[in-house]
Amino acid sequence: MTDPLPVYQAVSASGVRIRLEGGQELIDGMSSWWAAIHGYSHPVLNKAVMEQTETMAHVMFGGLTHAPAVELAQLLIAITPEPLDKIFFSDSGSVAIEVALKMAMQYWHAAGRPEKHRMLTIRGGYHGDTFHAMSVCDPVTGMHHLFQHVLPRQLFAPMPRCRFNDEWNEKDIAEMERLLDDHHHELAAVIIEPIVQGAGGMRFYHPEYLRRLRELCDRHCVLLIFDEIATGFGRSGKLFAAEHAGISPDIMCLGKALTGGYMTLAATLATDDVAATISSAAPGVFMHGPTFMGNPLACHVAHASINLLLNSPWQERLQAMEDQLRAELFPAAELPNVADVRVLGGIGVIEMRDQLDVAELQQFFLQQGVWIRPFTNLIYIMPPYIIDPMDLRKLTGAMVEAASL
Ligand SMILES: *Cc1c(COP(=O)(O)O)cnc(C)c1O
Repeated sequence: MTDPLPVYQAVSASGVRIRLEGGQELIDGMSSWWAAIHGYSHPVLNKAVMEQTETMAHVMFGGLTHAPAVELAQLLIAITPEPLDKIFFSDSGSVAIEVALKMAMQYWHAAGRPEKHRMLTIRGGYHGDTFHAMSVCDPVTGMHHLFQHVLPRQLFAPMPRCRFNDEWNEKDIAEMERLLDDHHHELAAVIIEPIVQGAGGMRFYHPEYLRRLRELCDRHCVLLIFDEIATGFGRSGKLFAAEHAGISPDIMCLGKALTGGYMTLAATLATDDVAATISSAAPGVFMHGPTFMGNPLACHVAHASINLLLNSPWQERLQAMEDQLRAELFPAAELPNVADVRVLGGIGVIEMRDQLDVAELQQFFLQQGVWIRPFTNLIYIMPPYIIDPMDLRKLTGAMVEAASL
């Protein structure tokens, strides 16, 4: 760009600290966009990368297979909700979404119902920046008007209004139900971020919404896709956000924290039914094949990262983080410029009444020795799980101070 916001030169990072050129150290509140859950330069993950580099950094995943991909696939299938038994690896979250949408379309094509190719979602969502992923992002924050002549036209239900801890209100799902009644004959799938709407506004909604949505999709023969790219691997307090509702989708996307923030890798999981149906009709394969599919380096470090997580006291860490975020952020709700404060698992959000000046706030946070990057009217953090209470206190203190400026 010709007039970009200021950027700062990072020279190294370890634990929860990012070091800038000139020696300043910042406490990381962002986990590099949900990814670096174990912090930076973790010895176990460093070792995994070195080992795999010396063994085999990459081979093509067509006609060849290898242990890093097989072991990661087995582990993911074991820890994700039960009927998800098939897996497809790709390079990034957006591509995992493209893959999920394409799977849903190819499923109905193979089932002899090619007219079922549209998607239904809720407002306030974010699913990535490639074209079909963009088409299911919120039409306003996703800037659909810029691309209106080329984006596929999807259907949008209102965003759920019942918050995570509210009492469930049946009216919340009424418009979604009406859209499914009216359009199921042309719908391939409903796609949704379970419980946590991330980059579309950092909102947490009621688990009952997902249980009702599962029933509605079953009743109307529409597939259900969960985008767990931000929520996967513990961030919401459960290993996967779907567990808050106790239900499982037909297709699920993972990314971001999958490799502990070391490199880009994503996965799309599906049920045996989805895989068998796609395979039952010509061409008999799922039509997608990224060059770096199943990259051994990324798969090996992902395997190491998931084991590191599962062998850590992650539930206690997330619970302690949630308790501290509540105690230290909720008082900000009294401030005149604050519209709302909300916390779930390792996510803390202060929603302001007005749009923020990102460049100015960024500088303020740097002076406080923290790395927090707000957007629109949201000051939010999702720190690495290993953060200690004193460092977390610095992050929440800076957030509350920023909210009172
Ligand atoms: C980040 C994100 C994506 C896109 O992932 P990329 O790796 O940035 O392409 C999709 N869905 C959700 C919920 C995300 O948070």
